[in-house]
Amino acid sequence: MHIIRAQRIFDGHDLIHSRAVVVDGGRITALLDDAENALDLGDVTLLPGLIDTHVHLAFDAGPDPVARLDEDGLYERMHAAAQQHLAAGVTTVRDLGDKDYLAIKLAQEFTEGPEILSAGAPITSPRGHCWFLGGEAEGEEGIREAVRERAARGASAIKMMVTGGEMTPGSHSHLLQFTPAEIRAAAEEAHLHGLPITGHAHAGAGIAAALEAGFDSIEHVSFFTEDSVSHDHDLIARLADSGVFASLTVGLLPGFVPPPSIAPRIALLAEGMRLLHAAGVQIIGGSDAGIGPVKPHGILPYGGEMLVDFAGCTPTEVLRSFTSLAARACRVDDRKGRIAPGFDADLLAVEGDPTKDHRLLRRPAAVFRRGIRTS
Ligand SMILES: [Zn+2]
Repeated sequence: MHIIRAQRIFDGHDLIHSRAVVVDGGRITALLDDAENALDLGDVTLLPGLIDTHVHLAFDAGPDPVARLDEDGLYERMHAAAQQHLAAGVTTVRDLGDKDYLAIKLAQEFTEGPEILSAGAPITSPRGHCWFLGGEAEGEEGIREAVRERAARGASAIKMMVTGGEMTPGSHSHLLQFTPAEIRAAAEEAHLHGLPITGHAHAGAGIAAALEAGFDSIEHVSFFTEDSVSHDHDLIARLADSGVFASLTVGLLPGFVPPPSIAPRIALLAEGMRLLHAAGVQIIGGSDAGIGPVKPHGILPYGGEMLVDFAGCTPTEVLRSFTSLAARACRVDDRKGRIAPGFDADLLAVEGDPTKDHRLLRRPAAVFRRGIRTS
C-alpha cells in the first residue's frame, strides 16, 4: 500500500477536495482529504491517465508509415510506440489499425506498458481504405465472419471503414464503402459479441449510415464532400440525441502545415467541431497517432488545442473527454478514466491546474501505471 499526494486532484469529472490517493495492488482503494507519509508530488494536479481512443501503433509516424509496415521489426516499433504514449501520460490506447493482431499480442506481452485495447485490422472493402492492414471483407456474411474472427482473437472493439480515407490511393473519403445492410450486419454482429463498434466516416452519408446502424462511436465526423465540407445540421442534432460518441481527430505537433487537399477545408472542419459541441454531441479525442510526422505517438495531450480553439470546449471538458468520457466510449469505464476507489491506479500528474489551461497536459510531471511510477 502506498499513498500519492498532490495539490489538486481532478477525478475525471471535476476537481475534488481530496489531496491524496491510496493505492494498493495496482488499484485506488481510497481518497483522503490529505496525508502525511505520502509520496508528495507538490504543486501538481493528479488526474486519471489519459485515454487515446484512436491510435495506430503499427504506423511509425514517419513520412511513409504504410511502406514501413512490411519492413522487419514492426512488433518492436509498436512496442516503442506504446512506450511513447505511456511517457506522455496516455495510460490507455485504443488501436484502430492493427495488423496481424500484433497490438493484441503486445497487450498480452508488454504488461508494463500502457493498457492496449485493439480492434484488430479495420474491416474494409476489397482494396478499400487501409486494405493493406489485412481487413478486407464483403457481403453481410463475410463481414459477420470478420467480426467473429476479431472477437475470437480478443479484440476490444470493432472498427469499420464506412467511407474511404485520405491515406489510401483509390479510396474516396466522400463515398460509402459498404451497403447499409453490410454496415448494419457489422454493428449487429459486434453487439452480439458484446463489443463496441466504431466507424471511420468522413462523408455525411457515412456518418448517417453508422448512426442508423447503431454504431457506438464515429471517427473523424468531418462531413467531407468530394472537394469541400458540408455540414448536415439535422444529422448533427440526431447525433446529439443518440448519445453516440464523436471521436474527433485531434493532436498535431506545433508548426503543422496542412496538405493542399485539406488546407482549404480547415476553417470548415473547425466549424464542424463547433457545431457538434454546441449541439451537445458527446465528444472524445482520438489522435490517429502514427499516421505522419506531425502525429507522433503520445500526441494526445496536444489535442486540447483543437477541442478548445475549434470546438469551443472548456479545458475541463477536454479533461473529461480524454478521461471519463473516453473510458465510456471504450467500455472500460468500470476501471479507467476516474480517480475513485476500485479504479486502476493509472495516473498522470501535471504542473499547475489543467482545468484552467489544457496546455499543461503537455508537460507530465509523473506517470503511474497500475500504481507504479513509470516516469
Ligand atoms: Zn486512423
